[in-house]
Amino acid sequence: MIVVLSKNVTSHDKELVRIYLRDRGFAVRDQQFGEDELIGAAGKGVVDLRELGLLPGVERVAATSKPYELASRETKAEDSIVSVGGPEGNVKIGGSRITVIAGPCAVESREQIRETAETVRESGAVLLRGGAYKPRTSPYAFQGLGLKGLEYMKEAGEACGMPIVTEVVSPELAVDMKDLTDMFQIGARNMQNFELLKKVGALGKPVLLKRGPSATIEEWLLSAEYLLAAGTKDVVLCERGIRTFETYTRNTLDISAIPVVKALSHLPVIVDPSHAVGIRAKVASAALAAIAAGADGLTVEVHPRPDDALSDGPQSLYPEQFEKLMRDIEALAPVVGKELLRTPRPKAPGTGSPSGAGGASPKIPEPGQKQLTAYNGESGAFAEQALMRVFGEEAPRIQVQSFKGIFDAVLEGSAEAGIVPVENSLAGSIHENYDLFLRYPDIAIAGEVKLRIVHCLIADARADMDSITIVRSHPQGFAQCRNFLDKHPSWTLEACTDTAGAVASIAREGAVKVAAIAGAAAAKVHGLKVLKEGIETNPLNYTRFLIIRRRNSENTGFFESAGSEKPNKASLVFSVPDKPGSLFACLKTMADRGINLSKLESRPIQGKPWEYQFYVDVTIPEREEAFAPAMEELKVHTEDFHFLGAYRGSL
Ligand code: PEP
Ligand code: MN
Repeated sequence: MIVVLSKNVTSHDKELVRIYLRDRGFAVRDQQFGEDELIGAAGKGVVDLRELGLLPGVERVAATSKPYELASRETKAEDSIVSVGGPEGNVKIGGSRITVIAGPCAVESREQIRETAETVRESGAVLLRGGAYKPRTSPYAFQGLGLKGLEYMKEAGEACGMPIVTEVVSPELAVDMKDLTDMFQIGARNMQNFELLKKVGALGKPVLLKRGPSATIEEWLLSAEYLLAAGTKDVVLCERGIRTFETYTRNTLDISAIPVVKALSHLPVIVDPSHAVGIRAKVASAALAAIAAGADGLTVEVHPRPDDALSDGPQSLYPEQFEKLMRDIEALAPVVGKELLRTPRPKAPGTGSPSGAGGASPKIPEPGQKQLTAYNGESGAFAEQALMRVFGEEAPRIQVQSFKGIFDAVLEGSAEAGIVPVENSLAGSIHENYDLFLRYPDIAIAGEVKLRIVHCLIADARADMDSITIVRSHPQGFAQCRNFLDKHPSWTLEACTDTAGAVASIAREGAVKVAAIAGAAAAKVHGLKVLKEGIETNPLNYTRFLIIRRRNSENTGFFESAGSEKPNKASLVFSVPDKPGSLFACLKTMADRGINLSKLESRPIQGKPWEYQFYVDVTIPEREEAFAPAMEELKVHTEDFHFLGAYRGSL
């Protein structure tokens, strides 16, 4: 049992809680968990939970049915997000992201770790792995370079902007390693080295805890409990294969452990496919299966020349194989409602962390300016999900009542950025927002995110399928769930301005006969239940959102709105003169310079019947010198040319 104390608890009240528990047969222990002060109580005593909850200084009581408490979801319902590296923690693991750690099995030389860091970084890994102390099965095998290796790795990580994670094998070494690593790894063989867990946990740094080859899930979570009880709040679990009777692979990857642990614990779970299968050719399949099963990330062994590796060469990927795997993960991520974290998140307006890539313009906020991102809709709206995907769950944000309201907020400066939907993979372009870009020339596109839209039937906790007579949603929500609604012809459909708004209205009214069609997040935010999940007719249902910012007046070049990561996509709107070959001239301009078109759509120009403008998305070629001249030439061939922005496209 965990007693969570209120923020302003006095030491006197705290002592009274301890006495109350001891008198009823419990052993008690003070704990700190993140910001919260807790008292852990274990024993066979009997206690009236309501009475305990009413004691002065007690905020709430969590009765856990599990032997681990701090690691249990019963104690903390929301997913934990672990921050690694830098005072502000610039790489996050957990939540809606997929975080990939990569590097060699062992640090072999200064050059080898640097070369590996550069190649895995280039492919999108955000944390660098590598062993300096190697727990090898044979005493004659390469044991690692020790502290020297760790120094090489720190140097490589700093040069490539990647925090590092490395294995600690003994309690004595932990203190020496503390300032050289960003995250400790507890290896599979040491999962139940309790003295090591206590020592490492007390250092307060993030820890990657591998599952022991013969450990049950409960034993693994109890080891996590040791780390949390000792003081760290940042623990990431890593499934790396267990020992079974199968000998074809090095271990057996326990895919089922991922959903099981996710239900039992709030801690992020990642997978090490390299040690799990031990065969290079099988690593990518295991990695993709892990992501599909809900893993929050991977740790993968990559070596520039695996055939020369001093350890685990046969399971280490060639850099090209890793690159291909990262592309496949990027394509798979939206299917499971996640996004591959290829760089630390762009700075969310208002979070004060350093500006990153992905489209955020490195504009310095003015004093007193509210640093918010604006979106349209109620809490739990798909737009809010997209916003969190880009800027993180904690990003400060404001709701506005229309799409135009987003543009106004960004233009006036009451929001630093905005997020607007522009296209649905089934329903097509949202013309209203394209029109807004034309009406707000001072606003530019700075980034892109695609969100899979999974609709749910949502209602009050007391409702069931038979009690429903009315269903509310946005007309798009109804259209996308046509087959499901056709099975319930007696339901009355009521159109609302947004899907999350439909959910909010039911929560406000406490109606039991009314259901809403919206995303699961809206149900959670408004305290309603999901009656049925995944009711959209076509599961390949994605919405593309754009991040918008004010144009930077000092820089009027074509790359003005891009962040530190190189933009690879741009959006344009133009019309062409009414004469033969005018559109062809535009397309030829781009074809001649190797610029690929990823979207070309024509649409009537408002107020000019039977005249059309074109929405065009282009891929910026690697040789970007060709790009600006191509845009200049396009201006000559077109009539009303709008460059909406250059940004990093998502798959
Ligand atoms: C490693 O990650 O380098 C390692 C030795 O893994 P494990 O502890 O899972 O065997
Ligand atoms: Mn290894």
